[in-house]
Amino acid sequence: MKFHEMTSGAIGAIDRKQTVVLFPIAAVEQHGPHLPTGTDLIICGAVAEAVEARNPEKVLMLPVNWLGASAHHLRFGATMTAEMDTYIATLCEMARAPLEDGFQRILFLNGHGGNIDPMKIALRELQLEFPEAILSGASYWSIAEAVIANGLEGEDKGVGHACEFETSMIQHLRPELVDEPHRAHAGPWLPDGVEGLFISRDMKQRTQAGCTGRPDLATPEKGASMFVGIVERVGIAVEAILAEPLPD
Ligand SMILES: [Zn+2]
Repeated sequence: MKFHEMTSGAIGAIDRKQTVVLFPIAAVEQHGPHLPTGTDLIICGAVAEAVEARNPEKVLMLPVNWLGASAHHLRFGATMTAEMDTYIATLCEMARAPLEDGFQRILFLNGHGGNIDPMKIALRELQLEFPEAILSGASYWSIAEAVIANGLEGEDKGVGHACEFETSMIQHLRPELVDEPHRAHAGPWLPDGVEGLFISRDMKQRTQAGCTGRPDLATPEKGASMFVGIVERVGIAVEAILAEPLPD
């Protein structure tokens, strides 16, 4: 079920206890020299649509939220962002309406690294208000970590930024948007952690090109096969949310 394609009567008739409200949360920000700014919006939206299509009776998908927390990309330009407090408040308000309408199983499906911390804060705030609900969230890549690690050739086995993974996904989903002549090895980049510490750095401090890893190794075939695996894993996570007993 897609919220924005249904009438109020049809939404009113949904079984609120046995439905997962799926909020895809993405971003629009610079993605290096070769990928479109809407990379996260495109990937997260495609995953959410496929997850809804896999279980249309039990999943109520909201339209993709394109505005993310991306201030750490601003120094590269070509970036839209909400401030952190605004973003946390937006996520709370997006979830509050269906929760007040009786829905009890919420999943934020995240597609942008900068959204992770505010998403968790929003979930903690909502839990205090709605203790009778299951309030969950994850980045699709953490649900599908093994699928992604197995699908990549380069040294980095996770999702970076406009990396081998994201480039393969856009080559699969929207190949016409990839600037192929500018697709290249991203060169050295700094992680945001060392020896167990988190170091707060913006993208300009971490990379020269605004992207990470090995976009030069990306292929649409890798993107196609990882996409199938990701949808499968997220689908299983949705089933787990449905199987979770509602709190007393
Ligand atoms: Zn992003």
